[in-house]
Amino acid sequence: MSTEGQPQIVLATRPERALSQRFADKVALVTGASDRGIGGAIAERLAAEGAAISMISRHEPDRLMQRLRENSAAALFTTGDVARTEDVAHVVETTIDRFGQIDVLVNNAGIELAEPLATLSDEQWTELLQVNLTGVLRMSRAVLEHMDSRGGAIVNIASVLGLAGSAGLAAYSATKAGVIGMTQSLALELAPKGIRVVAVAPAMVKTPMATRYAPNMTAEVWERIQQSHPLGIGRPADVAAAVAFLASDEARWITGITLPMGWTPAFPLPVDDMLGR
Ligand code: NAD
Repeated sequence: MSTEGQPQIVLATRPERALSQRFADKVALVTGASDRGIGGAIAERLAAEGAAISMISRHEPDRLMQRLRENSAAALFTTGDVARTEDVAHVVETTIDRFGQIDVLVNNAGIELAEPLATLSDEQWTELLQVNLTGVLRMSRAVLEHMDSRGGAIVNIASVLGLAGSAGLAAYSATKAGVIGMTQSLALELAPKGIRVVAVAPAMVKTPMATRYAPNMTAEVWERIQQSHPLGIGRPADVAAAVAFLASDEARWITGITLPMGWTPAFPLPVDDMLGR
């Protein structure tokens, strides 16, 4: 995907220089961690801030594991599918066996489908729901007994498409809106146990999920995408930074919310034209 003409986001400090150890002595379980995706960036960020990391994904992310090893992170990977109850139970068990506790769960595993209503099959709909929505429920339920007595944080990766619509993405939107609804209600249900539940709703982030559209990215398509991204498209590390804050004790007074990232609700009136400027 070309990023030509995209506004450059300049960070005041390079994250790797400014990191504190907010997750020292904590254990985080991240679903869908991949080499170039959002889950991998979250795993690296939490590890860099001191967390021991457990991950589950359909495929082992070799390069991510290599980077975590090079940085001496305590990291454990389990191949599995969040749509399968036995895989979910297995990763939680393995995490407890190895690290003894789970303080943070990041529900990041997800699949996307752009399919118009007329051709959307029941099988496609069911698969999206199983992974994107029921997967979040399954993972959250499975870690509950381990967070029960000590508290914790669950961070769900929703999407702009859970809060705003886009033609052709109804099924994906429905799963992400479901995640946002679940976040709100679980936050209330689990607050008495000291468990916070929050979500982020990113706009387009440069990962394999988005770059697979690259062959069709003409200058005109790119221009139209830019119009809905006032700060340009995001990087996995941008999402990871927000997740790290929300999962940390610094966010101890925040629960139930969904943080929009990289976009803002828009109602683009042509004000200058209306005023004749
Ligand atoms: P990605 O395709 O790079 O990564 C998704 C990961 O989830 C992969 O590691 C994949 O193996 C894993 N996964 C998929 N199904 C799984 C399953 N059933 N069980 C276990 N693991 C599974 O995509 P990404 O862009 O990094 O997406 C991560 C999350 O962020 C997803 O939930 C996605 O919906 C969300 N999101 C992405 C964007 C974007 O533009 N990339 C924007 C908003 C939200």
